[in-house]
Amino acid sequence: MADCEKALRELDTFLDGELSDATRTAIHDHLDGCPDCLSAFDFHAELKSVIAQKCQNDEMPPGLLSRLEQCLHIELAPGGDGSA
Ligand SMILES: [Zn+2]
Repeated sequence: MADCEKALRELDTFLDGELSDATRTAIHDHLDGCPDCLSAFDFHAELKSVIAQKCQNDEMPPGLLSRLEQCLHIELAPGGDGSA
């Protein structure tokens, strides 16, 4: 793989540790050569740990994470005319 879109799509599963070894390795390889994805992954990992800490004693509100991810995906999406 050398595909930012695919790497970012696997991001959440990657952070949850639910990927196969082969996919994890492929993503690690991609991050090694792709600072953009690396910073996206770093940011997302940080966000996830902050949320996990804040939600230690509470259920995470349903939809919160996916809303955050939508924001992230909008920010991460390269190009686009942004007219929507
Ligand atoms: Zn990339």
